[in-house]
Amino acid sequence: MANLRFQALEDSKKREIIPVEYDSIKTSDFFGINVFNKQKMQSYLSKEAFEEVQAAVDEGKKIDRRIANQIALGMKAWALDRGATHYTHWFQPLNGATAEKHDAFFEPTVDGGVIENFHGDLLVQQEPDASSFPNGGIRNTFEARGYTAWDPSSPAFVIDRTLCIPTIFVAYTGEALDFKTPLLKSSHALDKAAVRVCNMFDKEVTKVHATLGWEQEYFLIDEAFYNARPDLMLCGRTLMGHSSAKNQQLEDHYFGAIPARVASFMYDFEHESYKLGIPVKTRHNEVAPNQFECAPVFEEVNLAVDHNQLLMAIMEKTAVKHKFRVLFHEKPFAGINGSGKHNNWSMATNTGINLLSPGKNPKSNLRFLSFVVNTMKAVMDNADLLRSSILTAGNEHRLGANEAPPSIISVFLGSHINKMLDIIENSVSETKMTPDKKTELKMDIGKIPEILLDNTDRNRTSPFAFTGNRFEFRAVGSAMNCSSPMVALNTAMANQLNIFHDDIQNLLDKGIKRDEAIFQVLKKYIHESRKIIFEGNGYSQEWVIEANKRGLSNIGDTPVSLQAFVSKENIEMFDRLNVLSPREMEARYDIRMETFRKKIQIESRVLGDLAVNHIIPTAIRYQNILIENVRGMRDLLKTGEFNRQASLQLSTLKEISNHISSIKELVDHMTEERKLANAINDSIAQTHAYSNKVKPYLNEIRVHIDKLELIVDDELWTMPKYREMLFIR
Ligand code: ADP
Ligand code: MG
Repeated sequence: MANLRFQALEDSKKREIIPVEYDSIKTSDFFGINVFNKQKMQSYLSKEAFEEVQAAVDEGKKIDRRIANQIALGMKAWALDRGATHYTHWFQPLNGATAEKHDAFFEPTVDGGVIENFHGDLLVQQEPDASSFPNGGIRNTFEARGYTAWDPSSPAFVIDRTLCIPTIFVAYTGEALDFKTPLLKSSHALDKAAVRVCNMFDKEVTKVHATLGWEQEYFLIDEAFYNARPDLMLCGRTLMGHSSAKNQQLEDHYFGAIPARVASFMYDFEHESYKLGIPVKTRHNEVAPNQFECAPVFEEVNLAVDHNQLLMAIMEKTAVKHKFRVLFHEKPFAGINGSGKHNNWSMATNTGINLLSPGKNPKSNLRFLSFVVNTMKAVMDNADLLRSSILTAGNEHRLGANEAPPSIISVFLGSHINKMLDIIENSVSETKMTPDKKTELKMDIGKIPEILLDNTDRNRTSPFAFTGNRFEFRAVGSAMNCSSPMVALNTAMANQLNIFHDDIQNLLDKGIKRDEAIFQVLKKYIHESRKIIFEGNGYSQEWVIEANKRGLSNIGDTPVSLQAFVSKENIEMFDRLNVLSPREMEARYDIRMETFRKKIQIESRVLGDLAVNHIIPTAIRYQNILIENVRGMRDLLKTGEFNRQASLQLSTLKEISNHISSIKELVDHMTEERKLANAINDSIAQTHAYSNKVKPYLNEIRVHIDKLELIVDDELWTMPKYREMLFIR
């Protein structure tokens, strides 16, 4: 059989730049053209129907059946105008992808013709077969059916001639089977809690929503290399491969010129995104070779999550057209940076205020400080939950690997905010403050905006960093649905804001004045959260030691971290805030554990196969060449001469033999451990066994394979090498 690697090298050299066909040169001419947004609703819906949709979006009001029919008609008319032939409910099941089942609009009529049909019932609710989506046991104990229900807060869109209607996906008994349902509920909980706190400062605030701006990192590789690497195809990451002599050490890729083929791919997927109203704004090269990033303008969190999911799908499809494959895995290549998806998060009010942005006067700055301090406190008290929301089999490789925040959750605030916190902590006392002291404190607080304006304080090594007007949750993995970290953060914050409100109320009840009550509570929180603040290098070994001294947890093991889903406090908190029921929390825990186990199982099988079918035979072939060579030398040379001259070949032969037998032995042991794990009945124990007993072999085996890659004749090696895959021309 032809060596796929050489074929791939040939093919990748022949690539041409695929030109992009634009609908129009100016983005503003076609931005959102395929979205059933407010403007289009206004022209396709009756006034009554339009107002009903707006009320559903703004106030979460239920849409009346009769009106739903009207909306469906308008939506259909618009979709047909955009060339749609089919419609689908578009949802985000817990397997991490997006799901859709298309139905044609056309329907036969009694007189033998066809018409395009679509009505309210089809818009509002559908019943896809839930049995093939992860459900964590919910389906088995209750009903096999699931249904999808329209989420009017995320607009419908047309893609590939199909009208897509964003929906939630729940079991027939109401339990959530998707990412969207808890996100909407957590937003609602945060809204209620934040409005109450805002009203302490400003009565006009009636609604608060979380904002999210994600930064999507990814790798690109040529399609031919991808097809020649079964590990990439099946696991999304390379399970073997020696580092390229040159990778990222010169830091010449970061922010460098974007290769022409890649630029064309970027224009293409951005163009598609604009048509769908995804406001992708920035693009650049990342640190590792072949690594890139794009980021949109931030949006309301539910919409931002939908847009991220949609964008990932568009990127995958567009990559194929350009003969690339896009890799969203958090660590596709060992030894170079992995990919994250920083989640920039804040909260905004209906009055247009960013709650994490300093205001213009002492009052609004006190509100700003309250939200910052409460976020810090929420992160401290929910560090385990936040970590469990972002740890996966993929992200586990990235966190703590010297180029990503470690599995220790800490908060970076910057020197200015820290100074403010010091001032509050030192000037506020339990006893009543003197008017002078109060004025002084308010003056200090009033100075915040000037200071922050030129605040260039940045820390890129913190998992959770304040960046002037938002927090950046940097530990999120590139392949993840952002809903998971956003649900954790919204819920933790909602809970914290409720506590804050109660703490203040307690002091007010004791007759303490409002400002003073706020100062006192903030002082207490600042004092209690000191240990989570870390301003130094989060990637350093010193921090690991220091964090340990501070008593901060450092859990890099996914199954252990996931236990936070089912801790008593978290189950209670999610239940109390009506985000996820205890049953739903357990189901989610089960699903995450199962996904982790299956990923390790697949990686272990793929590596075993490749080691035995590709690597060992290749090594033996090279061994035979050496043996032939040694034999010839022995025939030709005198013994003394032979011993001297053949020593290199002989020692190489020995080295190869050692690696081959190590690989064989380790693969056998790994298979044995897999069998033992598979025999475990308790699925939780089984997952821990996969993590503790099977997973370690992946690296051990790889070490030997990577050594062989250096020894074996390049002509014989069948797997594309890092140095070949990682540099797109
Ligand atoms: P950096 O590389 O400095 O982190 P980027 O431009 O790559 O900056 O990304 C910053 C992201 O933060 C963008 O998506 C931006 O829209 C987002 N962002 C800015 N303000 C807010 C906010 N108030 N809430 C949420 N996200 C925000
Ligand atoms: Mg960035």
